[in-house]
Amino acid sequence: MKTVAVIGAGTMGAGIAQASALAGYEVILYDLAAELLAQSLDGIWASIDKGVERGKTAATTATTAKSAIQTTTSLETAAHADLIIEAAPERLALKREIFTRLDAAAPEHTILGSNTSSLSINALSGATNRADRFLGVHFFNPAHIMQLVELIRCDFTSDETVTAVRAYVEQLGKTAVLCKDTPAFIVNRVARPFYGEAFRLLGENAADAATVDNLMRSIGFRMGPFELIDLIGCDVNLAVTQTVYDAYFQEPKYRPHPIQKRMVESGRLGRKTGHGFYTYEKE
Ligand code: NAD
Repeated sequence: MKTVAVIGAGTMGAGIAQASALAGYEVILYDLAAELLAQSLDGIWASIDKGVERGKTAATTATTAKSAIQTTTSLETAAHADLIIEAAPERLALKREIFTRLDAAAPEHTILGSNTSSLSINALSGATNRADRFLGVHFFNPAHIMQLVELIRCDFTSDETVTAVRAYVEQLGKTAVLCKDTPAFIVNRVARPFYGEAFRLLGENAADAATVDNLMRSIGFRMGPFELIDLIGCDVNLAVTQTVYDAYFQEPKYRPHPIQKRMVESGRLGRKTGHGFYTYEKE
């Protein structure tokens, strides 16, 4: 595996592209518009530079990684890779459409992966004619830092595909855990009450966001739920909650909270818009 294409240059796509380039892969980064790609590339370069300043990345590795990332607004160009990881918005119909186009344009051997947080890998693979070369490759945010990657098999994913993508994850210096195709897989499923109860506390005026976050940090969590939602994106967090709720036939314990909806409708998406539960300086 030499070339990795990343579809969607947002929060996750940028991190996946960065991690892949630093691990020695040629990277093709795709998004809808040149401005989005330029903005994403700026962020990636700044993050690589930060790694050099902190002594985590050798200057030569940084230079090679920067030159290994090409950008494109042509999905068909991006399809010419050995592994394609889709990191577009969390909407089933949109992702299925992307995969149908990638499947038609990609070489026979290309493996297709989705970074979806919660959508069914079987439902996504069904948009292609290569379910044996299809799987979930779920990174965590920030993707260039977090060690864990969930690999999710659909019913037809071949052993060869899992082996090849596991080797890619390990080349990135990360650990892969193999999951079944259940709603939200392992980590996001376990995290549901972490967010859900926090929203209930806020909705009942039991505590404000900062108090809940401080309390969770004081007992050893790296971040509180509201800080984490701001990092993830309120839109992504709501989409995942809604998917899990629907996937379990409107199971009450997974029901989204009206505060989540209000945050998204008012455009307070978290760090990426400068406002969420907290306010952020432009990075
Ligand atoms: P984001 O909103 O930051 O980025 C999405 C990117 O996709 C944007 O750059 C957007 O321009 C682009 N895009 C929009 N329409 C597109 C299309 N038709 N084709 C290709 N690209 C398109 O979102 P994100 O947080 O990076 O999430 C991307 C995926 O990763 C989602 O499936 C999400 O559930 C998953 N994910 C997110 C997190 C997180 O913490 N944010 C963690 C793990 C997985």
